Amino acid sequence: MLIVKKFGGTSVANKERIYNVARRCIDEYQKGNDVVVILSAMGKMTDELIEMAKNINHNPSKREMDMLLTTGEQTSVALAAMAFDALGVPAISLNAFQVAMHTTSNYSNARLKRIDTERIRHELDQRKIVIVTGFQGINKYGDYTTLGRGGSDTTAVALAAALKADACEIYTDVDGVYTADPRIVRNAKKLTEITYDEMLDLATLGAGVLHNRSVEMAKKYGVQLVVRSSLTNEEGTVLKEEVKVERMLISGVASDKNCAKISVVGLSDKPGTAFRLFDALASANINVDMILQSVGRDNTQDIAFTVVGDYADDAVKVIEDNKSRLKYQKLECEKGVAKVSIVGAGMMSNPGVAAKMFECLYNSNINIKMISTSEIRVTVLIDEKEVEKAVNAAHDIFGLAD
Ligand code: ASP
Ligand code: MG
Repeated sequence: MLIVKKFGGTSVANKERIYNVARRCIDEYQKGNDVVVILSAMGKMTDELIEMAKNINHNPSKREMDMLLTTGEQTSVALAAMAFDALGVPAISLNAFQVAMHTTSNYSNARLKRIDTERIRHELDQRKIVIVTGFQGINKYGDYTTLGRGGSDTTAVALAAALKADACEIYTDVDGVYTADPRIVRNAKKLTEITYDEMLDLATLGAGVLHNRSVEMAKKYGVQLVVRSSLTNEEGTVLKEEVKVERMLISGVASDKNCAKISVVGLSDKPGTAFRLFDALASANINVDMILQSVGRDNTQDIAFTVVGDYADDAVKVIEDNKSRLKYQKLECEKGVAKVSIVGAGMMSNPGVAAKMFECLYNSNINIKMISTSEIRVTVLIDEKEVEKAVNAAHDIFGLAD
């Protein structure tokens, strides 16, 4: 078997943990398997590198940021290779250039396009454990790129797909995917299985366990993933196209606190209004999330939308700068709002799920500011202070507790 194992930052945070990773890999290797290991930077190293950069220059170039951040992963893989050596098992570390992991050219948020597998195959044929840097790639200019924060998961899934691995295991500091964040919901339960689509929604909506692009990629290439803890031998959660276990209506509740709601009041009610507004935001690279357009009256209408909290001021500025083109009466920005979402493939064939969600928020006396839905998701925007209450209420009403 060819097994791809990815370990996150906490799993390689210090000497003991690095040896722990090495031993876990050696167990598989000694069973006769080929083992490819993907590592993240140690502990909080990426954050520390970002701090160092900011200390030198408030607005560092993205190219140089990637040059800097890739050192984090390079440190981990080299140290891990030394640990394997000390344990008497042949291993070799490889970075994005040595493997050749080709990405798009945009620094700091590149996408993997193609991974060469010859070098890895060659090393595996020598019966070596191959340790590869996560998160990084190279672009057509011959520079380092990075895949965005948390991107090592995506490296692992992409490598598993390219190598047609028999298994892809993502080791982290939690023992799987839970029905809700266990720090918010005390009786949250670990899921044994989850579909790619559910996980994609949960990952995007703030579940924080996996990089959402890694889930997208797993779905696209049919890579069956397991998320499990590097510190215990617990089973973990399996991600796949369809799950066999008897389904609950809802698989999980996610929340995301870093949101802001922007309302543009008194826009003219005619074709092109929404286009001009969102085109201005898109041109400034501001991602918009939930969108609400009011019923038009007296030839005017209002549009409200949410953005990631950090982009609120930028969004307001873009709209103000375009005031003469957009012709609105009033602009409001509300920070301190949060999204709470319920996700579950089971809701597709069951009407009334959204109503039940709204009922439980009503019972908890929580005001809903905005709503958006998909086939397998209901998201509400509420006051940030009510997130804990809302997540627990939804978790309870849908019977997700242990
Ligand atoms: N080290 C990078 C980060 O902290 C990538 C990763 O951990 O996946 O974002
Ligand atoms: Mg991570």
